[in-house]
Amino acid sequence: MTAPQAHDSTARLLIVGPQGSGKGTQGVRIAESYGIPVVSTGDIFRANIKQGTPLGQQVTEILDRGDLVPDELTSEIVRDRLSQDDAVNGFLLDGYPRNTTQVAHLDAFLAEQGHALDAVILLDVPREESISRLTLRATEQGRTDDTPEAIAHRLDIYEQETAPIIDVYDERGIVDRVDGTGELDEITDRILAALAARGLRLAA
Ligand code: ADP
Repeated sequence: MTAPQAHDSTARLLIVGPQGSGKGTQGVRIAESYGIPVVSTGDIFRANIKQGTPLGQQVTEILDRGDLVPDELTSEIVRDRLSQDDAVNGFLLDGYPRNTTQVAHLDAFLAEQGHALDAVILLDVPREESISRLTLRATEQGRTDDTPEAIAHRLDIYEQETAPIIDVYDERGIVDRVDGTGELDEITDRILAALAARGLRLAA
């Protein structure tokens, strides 16, 4: 009898969706199911800001404006994070890559290790619903980048810069479009079903 190979439950995933699509919440659930870490660039930046690190000081104004942190810097941070032991057998990226330059950086990094993304989950939510969810979150969580101006600006950047990365991944045939409206559990089930249909097995 051979022991199960570590790569049996490997999944290299990306979750994409407009701000307020619930990708953070769903990302955590999917990563738990697969036993892989979530790598969220937004969380990494916010943690650094909170701790007052040099990186935090460098990016705080950028985040407050709703602008993107420079690609080189962001890609270097992700590269470091994905090189840690817990991410060797899989990960779920949330918030990165966010434009086609970052896609190229990620491709190069994964190719060095003989890897590639297995699936891109695209969470579909209408713009009006995103805005109302984000406005609610602003009052609940007090995120300083959840002002109406910053929200509208981030949604514009999403439509201009992030939506085009879907075309790139579509050409590779790895995009799963999932309806992001409805009950949380229902949405999780839809995502897990799409990944299972790709043959991505859950952790034992
Ligand atoms: P949201 O999805 O609500 O915008 P995130 O947590 O994904 O929240 O990101 C918050 C902010 O962090 C972004 O507005 C941006 O300033 C910065 N950020 C996150 N990911 C990236 C990235 N891949 N490239 C550049 N900046 C990023």
